[in-house]
Amino acid sequence: MILVMSPRHTDAELDDLRERVERTGARTVVSRGAGRTIVGCVGDHDALESVARLALTGVESATPIRTPYKLAARGIAADRSVVRAGPGAGVAIGAHALAVIAGPCSVEGRDMLHTTARAVRSSGAVMLRGGAFKPRSSPYAFQGLGVEALEMLAEVRAVTGMPIVTEVLDPRQVDLVAAHADVLQIGARNMQNFALLAEVGRVRRPVLLKRGMSCTVTELLLAAEYVLAQGNPDVILCERGIRTFDTVTRNCLDVGAIAALKAETHLPVIADPSHAAGRADLVLPLACAAVAVGADGLIVEVHPEPARARSDADQTLTPHQFAELMAAIAPVARAVGRALSEPRAAALPSAEPTHCRRAHA
Ligand code: PEP
Ligand code: MN
Repeated sequence: MILVMSPRHTDAELDDLRERVERTGARTVVSRGAGRTIVGCVGDHDALESVARLALTGVESATPIRTPYKLAARGIAADRSVVRAGPGAGVAIGAHALAVIAGPCSVEGRDMLHTTARAVRSSGAVMLRGGAFKPRSSPYAFQGLGVEALEMLAEVRAVTGMPIVTEVLDPRQVDLVAAHADVLQIGARNMQNFALLAEVGRVRRPVLLKRGMSCTVTELLLAAEYVLAQGNPDVILCERGIRTFDTVTRNCLDVGAIAALKAETHLPVIADPSHAAGRADLVLPLACAAVAVGADGLIVEVHPEPARARSDADQTLTPHQFAELMAAIAPVARAVGRALSEPRAAALPSAEPTHCRRAHA
């Protein structure tokens, strides 16, 4: 249920309302926007029936949330959500400026990571990606350097100031990955790993949730709901292509889904043109398409020598190709009323994120 407070409501009315709603067993989430305050009420059928019978003093309108996802629904938030990440929460995803994340598919070593980070930062990337634990179709393929790679990522953050995005595959490794990374990536293959979603919902780290390759937009939003329902409000959604009958691309970038997500949810939505294209020459046009349709950012695979990459070589850009991509998306961003984040020239302090578990009642 979405309760929109009347413009002249008092703080006492708001507090009283929340207390009475919570007594029914429903949970309240308050969202204060520029022009209005919304109290979202989430609970089971009986609790919401009880809320509907309350005297709603100070409330202008009460509307049921008809979608199966509630905390992810657009209407529960007064404004679009902006997720902040990194040391000093210095990077914003979902704000006016697009956030571009770039880096290798897998962390393969210290030097290649440093080189890639410096190159993508100078082209305007605001976060560094790199897989430490890799979800590979074959058990014989390179599985990532694991903990060693997490340490390299943290080192490179210390030097470049770039926040780190890396994938977590297993609920048992959430604390470990969160101790090193600024953003926890949930990969397409794990989008419906509900135990993993619940676990990342309990930590204080933004979550980059990639759409499963055969999952619907509603399933993606319900996956996000698992994270939100555990108390972690910082979810970034990512369209990375879905499987279709056509093999000309590795996956089919679903630009319609990006537009639909922007209408259905207040959460930021980014696109991954690399895993959609599966081939380097199509990454730039797909990036432009995603920006044109309203994506809040991109995540792009870049390697100093793509031909030598130990995973996803075919879709990986050189630093030069990445610079070209950034130049190509800038006018598209302007055309749709967005800007690109400025490159961060100066290194920031090397604060290691202290992992902090959230206490939940
Ligand atoms: C990746 O980002 O390298 C990755 C494995 O992505 P996805 O889960 O979208 O396949
Ligand atoms: Mn990859």
